[in-house]
Amino acid sequence: MSASGPSRRARDIGLDVRAPRTSCDDRHCPFHGRLPVRGQVLEGTVVSVAMQRTAVVERTLLTYVPKFERYEKRRRRYLAHSPPCLGVPAGHRVRIAETRPLSKLVTFCIVEDLGEAAHRAAGEEAAPVSEVAPPKPEAA
Ligand SMILES: [Zn+2]
Repeated sequence: MSASGPSRRARDIGLDVRAPRTSCDDRHCPFHGRLPVRGQVLEGTVVSVAMQRTAVVERTLLTYVPKFERYEKRRRRYLAHSPPCLGVPAGHRVRIAETRPLSKLVTFCIVEDLGEAAHRAAGEEAAPVSEVAPPKPEAA
C-alpha cells in the first residue's frame, strides 16, 4: 500500500486525543500535515466557522475577585485553525492546542471534536434553569 493521497494514516501528535476518522491533505493539519502542536491545550466552544479552515473558539473561565469574594465570568475568543478532516461545525465543544503562528491571529489548532456542547463542563456558560425563569407577574 502506498502512503500517498488522502488515505494517509493519522500522525501521533503527542496529545491524548482521538485521531480523526477521515483524512485530509491540509499541510496545516497536525495529523496529516506537518504542523507541530506544543504548549497550551484548551477547551472551548466553536461559535463560528464562517472563515475558510479557521474557527472562532470561545472559552469562559471564572476568575476570583478578592474584593467581592466572588467569581466573575470572563471569556476569551481564539481563532483556531480547523483541519478539514475534523470538519467541526459551530456549536461543538473542541480541544485546541497551541501551535506556531499560522497567521496574524491564528496560533491555535483544533485537535479534537468533543461533540455538541449540550453537556457543558461544570461552571461554564448556561446558567441553571431556575436562575433564568421569568419573573412572576405582580398583582396590580
Ligand atoms: Zn487532517
